[in-house]
Amino acid sequence: MSKLLLDVVNLNKDFQVKSDKTFFRKPSSIRVLSNVSFKLYEGETLSIVGESGCGKTTLGRCIVRGVNASSGQVLYNTDRGEQVDFLTLKGKEFKSLRKDIQMIFQDPYSSLSPRMSVYDIISEPLLANFKLSKSEVDEKVTEIAQKTGLNVSYLKRYPHAFSGGQRQRIAIARSLISRPRLIVCDEAVSALDVSIKAQIINLLKDLQQQLQITYIFISHDLSIVQNISDRVAVMHLGKIVELATVESLFEHPKHPYTEALLSAVPEPDPHLKKDRIILEGEVPNPANPPSGCHFHPRCAYKTDKCVQQEPELQPIHDEHFVACHYANELKLRGVTNES
Ligand code: SF4
Repeated sequence: MSKLLLDVVNLNKDFQVKSDKTFFRKPSSIRVLSNVSFKLYEGETLSIVGESGCGKTTLGRCIVRGVNASSGQVLYNTDRGEQVDFLTLKGKEFKSLRKDIQMIFQDPYSSLSPRMSVYDIISEPLLANFKLSKSEVDEKVTEIAQKTGLNVSYLKRYPHAFSGGQRQRIAIARSLISRPRLIVCDEAVSALDVSIKAQIINLLKDLQQQLQITYIFISHDLSIVQNISDRVAVMHLGKIVELATVESLFEHPKHPYTEALLSAVPEPDPHLKKDRIILEGEVPNPANPPSGCHFHPRCAYKTDKCVQQEPELQPIHDEHFVACHYANELKLRGVTNES
């Protein structure tokens, strides 16, 4: 296993419910992340999957400090060999390390300023973090444009002149220019056409090889996740319910929620029929989560124990962690590797 890059420890995020506020009563809060803990190793791609509202985007934003976590730690091992809590860094120390952790957003149409040229968009983080001469900035912008497949002659143009795939290349070039060690990709290819998606995924993989970047890849598209990931974490109602290597999780899921998500992955062989598991009921309300296992109202395998007692995320064997009372007993259906 590679060196530890990030150790996320008991991360919690509460959002206040404004409509609940009265003159006499403080607003109540909803817990959207609950004791999320995981380790991230240098050079790997860890995907975070789950339905809309499960907390995966909030998790990414808390890690990059796009929103403030309510409690918990994001312990970051710097390239100088020190360990710091990224969430509590201030002043010069934060300024010097914030470039190490970047984020790429879902929508390439709204994440780029329409009033800035592509050159200015890409060079902005460089100018904010380093003291460089104009020729050095030119050189670095040209280099990263070439690496991300952007035509250098287009750098003076504005984002509206580009397709969705080209705009996402611009966003990737911007996130890479200050040489981050970790990039959080939040649904980074969801808004793109199928053929462009494949190009951007291949680009992310190539750049990872060339620049030894680590990715947290947030996605609801399990076919892409299977293709790009080393490990996968499944989130349900603000908690990680399963975390494993991509092979182990896809071929031998141990949590009934993972089994249901995987049943929606398209079968590559058109002659093989696949039964999709339709989860009954609504996604539970995080303001009023169910007792015991939060998945029990939709779980086909639940028992009285599940209704009363919440399962902890525990290792069932090397690198495979599951939060289910019956993880070792259930025989669940996975998917085979396409490659
Ligand atoms: Fe289903 Fe019970 Fe496992 Fe929860 S603990 S996933 S309800 S079997």
